[in-house]
Amino acid sequence: MPRYNHSEIADKWQKYWKENEIFTVLNTETNKEKYYILSMFPYPSGKLHVGHIRNYSISDAIARFKRAFGYNVLHPVGWDAFGLPAENAAIEHNVHPKEWTLDNIEVMKKQLEKCGFSYDWSREIMTCSSDYCADQQYIFIEMLKHGLLYQKESEVNWDPIDKTVLANEQVIDGKGWRSGATIEKRMLTQWFFKITNFAEDLLHSLKSLNQWPLRIKSMQEKWIGRSEGAEIVFHISSDTVTNKDLDSITVFTTRPETIFGCTFIAIGPSHPIAKKLAQNDAQICAMLEEWQKSSTIEAENATKEKAGITTDLYFLHPIHNGKIPLIIVNYIIDGYGTNAVFGCPAHDERDFEIAKIHNFRIVSVIQDETVVNSDFLTGLSLEEARSTIVKYLEDNKIGNRAVNFRLRDWSISRQRYWGCPIPIIYCPKCGTIAANEESLPILLPKDKNLCKSEWLHTKCHICNSDATRETDTLDTFVESSWYFLKFILPNVPFKRWKDETIHNQLARWLPVDQYVGGAEHAVMHLIYSRFFTKALHQLGYIKFQEPFIALLNQGMVCHAAYKDAAKRWVDIKYVQKVSETGKYIDCRNGQEVHFVGVEKMSKSKLNGIDANDAIEEFGADAVRMFMLSDSPPDKDIEWSHIGIDGTRKYLNKIYREIINISTQNIEYALNENSHMRYAELDIEDSSHDLDMFRRIHTTIRLVTESYERHSFHKVIAFIRELSNTVLITEKRKLKAATLWLIIRLLHPIAPHITEECNQILRTITNSAHSLSEMEWPKYDIQYSQSQTAKIAIQINGKTRDILEMKLDCSQEEVEQQAKFSHGILKYIKGEIQKVIFIKNKILNFIIKN
Ligand SMILES: [Zn+2]
Repeated sequence: MPRYNHSEIADKWQKYWKENEIFTVLNTETNKEKYYILSMFPYPSGKLHVGHIRNYSISDAIARFKRAFGYNVLHPVGWDAFGLPAENAAIEHNVHPKEWTLDNIEVMKKQLEKCGFSYDWSREIMTCSSDYCADQQYIFIEMLKHGLLYQKESEVNWDPIDKTVLANEQVIDGKGWRSGATIEKRMLTQWFFKITNFAEDLLHSLKSLNQWPLRIKSMQEKWIGRSEGAEIVFHISSDTVTNKDLDSITVFTTRPETIFGCTFIAIGPSHPIAKKLAQNDAQICAMLEEWQKSSTIEAENATKEKAGITTDLYFLHPIHNGKIPLIIVNYIIDGYGTNAVFGCPAHDERDFEIAKIHNFRIVSVIQDETVVNSDFLTGLSLEEARSTIVKYLEDNKIGNRAVNFRLRDWSISRQRYWGCPIPIIYCPKCGTIAANEESLPILLPKDKNLCKSEWLHTKCHICNSDATRETDTLDTFVESSWYFLKFILPNVPFKRWKDETIHNQLARWLPVDQYVGGAEHAVMHLIYSRFFTKALHQLGYIKFQEPFIALLNQGMVCHAAYKDAAKRWVDIKYVQKVSETGKYIDCRNGQEVHFVGVEKMSKSKLNGIDANDAIEEFGADAVRMFMLSDSPPDKDIEWSHIGIDGTRKYLNKIYREIINISTQNIEYALNENSHMRYAELDIEDSSHDLDMFRRIHTTIRLVTESYERHSFHKVIAFIRELSNTVLITEKRKLKAATLWLIIRLLHPIAPHITEECNQILRTITNSAHSLSEMEWPKYDIQYSQSQTAKIAIQINGKTRDILEMKLDCSQEEVEQQAKFSHGILKYIKGEIQKVIFIKNKILNFIIKN
C-alpha cells in the first residue's frame, strides 16, 4: 500500500495555519466564550523529547476540540529561559548563557512547529527578555512594599566548589549534585517570599479545586502541613548546670493529652540551646557537624537512623514537676514548631527508639482510647483530655493552643549569574532599598562575575551616594510563578495592569481553564503559582485567587531498557533481537544484553527516543495519535515502534479511502451535515442500514463526550471501531459521509492528514474551508442513544469487572461473557451456588468459599 507523504503534508498545513493566522486570538474578540488552555512552558534545553510531545499533544487536542466546539481558545507558548543548565553549558562549551539559551529556543521552536501544535505564537514570551525582567522586578518591588518579601540571615546548603546555595533537593548524600563537593551549612543573608502568610488560605482553598487530581492536592496539603496542638513551657530544673540566660524551653506538641507520658525533651540540631552547647563541647560540636553532612531531605529524614546526644540539662514537668532530661536529636526538621518537642516513648515510634537507646522511662498513658496514669486527665477520652489539658495550660499560663505549619518561607536568592537580577541597592546611608522603578529593568551585564563587574557599582537614587547592587539573582521558580498572566498582555508592562481596560482584558481570559503538566511540580511550581496568584490578588492586580481551574498531570513515556553483562546500560539504538534465539544483542559487538524492564525514558538509562527522528520516520500525526492511544493521558505509556507503525498504517488507510472517493468522482453534495440526513445517504430502511446510521450518531456522541473528559484513548478507539465498520460497507454515499465525519472527529489528534483529506473532499465540492475553522459535527439525539449496557459483574456482591454488552442481553449471554472475563476468572474458584441477574445492570455470582 503506498504511503502518504507525511512531511510534505505537514509542511503544507503548518504553512497554511501560520500564513492565515488561524490560531491567533485577539483580546478584542469577545463574541464567543473564552477557553484558556496551557501546558507548562518548556525549559529551552535545545532538545524536544517525546515526553514533551505527549504533554503538548494532550493540550493541543483539547485546544483544537474546544475551538471546533465554539470557544474562543487561547493556547499560548513561551520559554522558561533562565536557569543553571545554561550556565553549566556555558562553562562546558565556552559560550555565553544568553547565546546558548537563544539558540536553543530557535531550535526548539522549529521542533514544536514540526509537531503542528496550534499555538498562538504572537504571544510568545521568554523569561530572560528585558520586558519580562522589568515586570518581574516591578512585581518584586511591589511585594517588598507590601510586606510580602523580607531579608534574613538563614542557614543554607553551600556548595564550596560551585560557590552557590543549593536547594535541599540538589544535595545528594551530603554532596552537591553537580560538583560532588561536600555541602557545608552556611549562614547567609537571603531574600524570602512570605508564602507562610498564605499558609491557611493555600490549604483551605485546595477544597475549591474540584478539577485537580486528588494526589496533587494531598501532596500540597502535606507540604503545607497544618497541625493543631499546643505550645507548652518547661522551666529549667534549678540544680541543672547552666548559664543564666536559660530559664525555660517552649515545646510544640500535636498531642498535649499525652503530657503525663513525657519523659524527655528533644530539640533539633539548629535549636539555639543545641548551638550554645556545641560551642562549649567539642564532642557535641563534632556530632552536629556529622549530622549536617547527612541529607536534609525530609523523606530521608523519616527513614534514617534516629540518633541523639544526651546533655546535662534537665527541665521540670509542667504539672508534676518531675525532672525531665534534654536530648539533641537528628530527626527534628529545622523550623518544625519551636524546634523542640516532648518525648512520649509509649506512644510515638521515634521517641520509643530514642528512649530505648538512652534508657529513658516509658510511661503508658493511653489504654483503649482512654487516658490513664495521668492525674486529672485519667479516665477521659482523648478528645476530652485534649481540651481539658489545653484549658489547664492556658489558665495556669504555662502554655497555649497553637497551630503549626510545615510550610517555610520561600528562599529565592541564588548566587548564580543566569537569572533575573534582584532589584535591590545597598546604600551606605539609606541602607537596603528597592531600586528606582524608573531604572527598571536592571539587566545582567555581559560579564558573568557580578561581584567583580563594573555593573556592581551604582548611585543611590535617594541620596546620590555610591552604592552597590544586589548580586544574587532570583530563583527561576519566581518567573514561572506568574508567566500564565503575561500571555494575556505580552506587550503591556505590568505596572499598567491596574488600568481599567487592561484589567478587563485580564479578567476576560483568566484564570487558566485547563493546565497540563507533570506531577513532579506538585509542591514546587504549582504551590508557588498559587501563592503568587493570591499575593497579586491581595495587591489588587487580578480578580481571582486560584490560577488553574483544572489540572491534568500527564503520565510518563516509558521504553524498554537493557544492560550488558557488566551491568552497564546499553543504548537502545544498538539493541537488536536475534530472531532465532529470541535473545537481545548489542549490534556493535554482538554480545548478549539483558532486558531490564520498561522504564521511564531517561538519559542515564539510554532508553530515550529522539523526537525528531520519530517525527521524520512516522510523521507528526502518527506520533501524536500514538501518544494518546491505549492509555488515559494521566497514565504512563510504553513507546513502541510497532504501535506507531500501526497508527501510521491506519491513517494511511483512511487517506487511501478518501482518495478513492475522489477518483470515483462522487457527485452528490457533501455538505457539513450530510451525515445527519438519512435520505441523502441512500439508506434503505433495513435493520442493517439503520444500525449503521445509529452507529454513526452514537460514535459522534461518545467521541464528543470522551474529548470533554480528556479520554483520548477512548476517542481513538471509538473512531477506529467506526472505521472498521464503514470501510466494508458497499453504500458509497454512506461511506463517503462517514469517512468525512471520521476525519473531522480525528482532527484534534491528527491535524495534518485530516486537513489534507478534508481538502481532497472539498475539492470535489468546490468549497474552501480549513478543518481548523470548521464546527464540530452534530449528532441526532434520537439515533445516538447507547445501544450497549454496562453490566457490573459481581462475586458475592462485590463488583470485580464491568462488561459493556448489547442492550437487553439475556442472563445466559452475560454469564457466558463473564466467565471468560479476565477480571472474573481468578475469583470463580468455589462452587457457584446462585446467580442473581438484573437486566442491563448486574450479574452477581454467589460462591461458596
Ligand atoms: Zn542613599
